[in-house]
Amino acid sequence: MLGHLGAEGFELTGDLDSADVVVVNTCGFLQASAQESVNTLLSAARRKKDGQVRAVVAVGCMTQRYGAEVANAMPEVDGFLGVGQGQELPDVVRRVLSGERVTQVTGPAAGFEGYGLRLQQTPHHTAYLKISEGCDRNCAFCVIPSIRGKMVSRPISDLVFEARQLAARGVRELILVGQDPTRYGVDLGGHQLVELLTELSRIEELRWIRVMYLFPDRHAAAVLEAIATLPRVCRYVDMPLQHAAPEVLRSMNRPGGDDEFLAMIETARALCPEMVVRSTFIAGFPGETREAYQRLAAFVHNAQLDWVGVFQYSKEEGSPAAAMSQQVTAHARRDRYHRLMRIQRDVTRKRLRKSIGSEIEVLVEQVTGNAGVGRSMGQAPEIDGETHLDLTALPSSAPGDFVLAEITGSSEYDLTAKALRLLHRSPARTPELLQIGVKAR
Ligand code: SF4
Repeated sequence: MLGHLGAEGFELTGDLDSADVVVVNTCGFLQASAQESVNTLLSAARRKKDGQVRAVVAVGCMTQRYGAEVANAMPEVDGFLGVGQGQELPDVVRRVLSGERVTQVTGPAAGFEGYGLRLQQTPHHTAYLKISEGCDRNCAFCVIPSIRGKMVSRPISDLVFEARQLAARGVRELILVGQDPTRYGVDLGGHQLVELLTELSRIEELRWIRVMYLFPDRHAAAVLEAIATLPRVCRYVDMPLQHAAPEVLRSMNRPGGDDEFLAMIETARALCPEMVVRSTFIAGFPGETREAYQRLAAFVHNAQLDWVGVFQYSKEEGSPAAAMSQQVTAHARRDRYHRLMRIQRDVTRKRLRKSIGSEIEVLVEQVTGNAGVGRSMGQAPEIDGETHLDLTALPSSAPGDFVLAEITGSSEYDLTAKALRLLHRSPARTPELLQIGVKAR
């Protein structure tokens, strides 16, 4: 979307006060996220009413999921597009600016059509790399496959081409994302995530390559080994397990159970003792008995994961789980959620405390005087804790620096550390429009 807008001469700003048009990229996989998207659209629409902006456009998963329904319900919003329609956005923006109301939600997504231009908006040293789109699994609680369509992978050559361009422009941390990275490449002839990681790990300018959202099936073992051994790949595993009781996982239409998961985590840690493991769980899935919940709680305690996110089960219209008869009460869902969060808070706090005194590599992201905030290899942006840095020994530190730091303290979720020496300085470049599609070569 940004690439197409940039290529057609639109000036992009994150500052609402100077914008003519507000484009809201909505989320719609949970009722709560759809509600958040609606609230954001309404607050943008209020700015329009006050004369501060001229038009508001909604794009993405929420509009894809609810289509005409949301367009009818929100007359104050001027334009609607679904997912995978980035190339249509400049035209829609022009039309809403001329006073037209445009509802143009097609789809679901059609892979990577029109995915040929990129304007990086993350900090100059970090970029996401979308490796696939869509999902072929049918987890019972999830509506993402119906929103984003069947899985389509981008060929390794395209991804390496894009990664090289980003690296040449100063990107040092590359974060691989897709709905189901473990299955990456299946539509191209076979599981290819290990091959992709191997190719990307040959790009010398990159310092950290991070993979998010691994699915815990039998193909995960080879990926874990690659994460533990390949140069530049962060020793960081993000594997949403969702539950631990085998019968709940079965009704979620997902594989595994506590014993298998514990063995998997043990293997990852045996391959590489400093491996950081993150997971997410759902509390209160339909049919989750008190015993099944206790099994999950015991697992969260026993697995000693570094980072855990917990969601209260959300009954999503159109998902198989919404039709299940044994829905757990809202009170029990909330209670189980809070109890899991408490268990993990203690685990995380103790694990962080144990790391005091050790040395880590930190990517500096913000600098204020002699203080900074950054992340280690074990801290992914936005979801994990941060590292608060004392930069007294490195007064010329800047965002994008990689420094060696000694951990001096910890809190519930964050670390404090003292920077010791500079390891690498990322070249600070202003964002430029990249041609990333096959046609660019
Ligand atoms: S693998 Fe992820 S995106 Fe796909 S159906 Fe399951 S939860 Fe949804």
